[in-house]
Amino acid sequence: MKYFIKTFGCQANKSDSERIAGDYQARGYQETDSWKEADEIVINTCSVRERAEDRVKGFLLNIQKYFPQTQSATRPKIILTGCMIHHGAQKLRQDLPLVDEVLPIAEVGFNSPAIRKDKKHAWVPISSGCNSFCTFCIVPYARGRERSRPMVDVVAEVKQLAAEGYDEITLLGQNVNSYGLEKAGIGYRKLLMSREGFALSDIPSNQSAYFPPDGIPPFVTLIRQISAIDGIKKIHFMTSNPWDFWEELIDEIATNQKIDRFVHLPVQSGSDRILSLMNRGYTHADYLSLINRIKAKVKDVRIGTDIIVGFPGETETDFEETVALAKEVGFAVAFSAQYSPRPGTAAYRIYEDNIPAKIKKERWQILEDLINRPNLESRPIIR
Ligand code: SF4
Repeated sequence: MKYFIKTFGCQANKSDSERIAGDYQARGYQETDSWKEADEIVINTCSVRERAEDRVKGFLLNIQKYFPQTQSATRPKIILTGCMIHHGAQKLRQDLPLVDEVLPIAEVGFNSPAIRKDKKHAWVPISSGCNSFCTFCIVPYARGRERSRPMVDVVAEVKQLAAEGYDEITLLGQNVNSYGLEKAGIGYRKLLMSREGFALSDIPSNQSAYFPPDGIPPFVTLIRQISAIDGIKKIHFMTSNPWDFWEELIDEIATNQKIDRFVHLPVQSGSDRILSLMNRGYTHADYLSLINRIKAKVKDVRIGTDIIVGFPGETETDFEETVALAKEVGFAVAFSAQYSPRPGTAAYRIYEDNIPAKIKKERWQILEDLINRPNLESRPIIR
């Protein structure tokens, strides 16, 4: 029996697919490079933008053209997992009749070690899900509440990787800084999705979603334990968020030469008004102050970011504040996106997508020319 995994989206999905592959191989399946030869096709989906979902639909269309009979007995079994499952199994099977099963990622298979193609660098998930509820983001609904892997498990996995010859790792999570600090089972999703007159004030504030660290934040302890493993030479982590980028973490980066000097810190907007509508929990000044504290201690640091342009209601003045912030920080790289309303998010429910596509594109281009073009030669490779 052969399996084929098609992965869309971010590094978290790619890392999940490595574990799904491990589960298939533990069950005696072999990987195939061609979906046409597979007995089972897993589509690990992304919902972050409409285009990402369109690509999933395009892939299914290709399968349908190749196997015109829709009966599952005469074609590979198709399993859909990943972020698109937040639409609900019933709706997905209605819209995508070729799909045989819709399964949460944890049910597709995580019981085996990851199967990694790269033999020197490894992605290591440390947490999954998110408690932050940025209004534009589908992750808290698609992946659920934040859950951290036990530190002993993460450290054991990295020790094993080092023994196999890996010398570089990237610790992965939707918000790595809050590793080990989550409150479990708060039921926000139920709250958000059940209310008719849903408003911004119903969304939990980012800062209150975590217990404040008592002593050393667990993420810093984890990094120290991993740094102590012989053979590990370079440590990257992503994604960090500004509201809990602990002072202890800055000190650790400054003094621990195994940690990469590239810090990816999504800002999303430079306008306080838009940041508040996004429920980001910090202001332009807060972000800048954090960057200045990092730069003061980590002399050779380079900062990368994510920015959304054309968020509902973004005025020319709001956008100018983003441009000003980009100039003030001097980002090494920015992943800019034109806002796309995602069904299921708070922003989809409470704001009108009222910025014309032409303006979104112009603003995106301005940031691209300002941040990414001048840095083309020295753009950091995001691990
Ligand atoms: S921190 Fe915000 S943007 Fe990042 S995954 Fe969580 S909700 Fe989404």
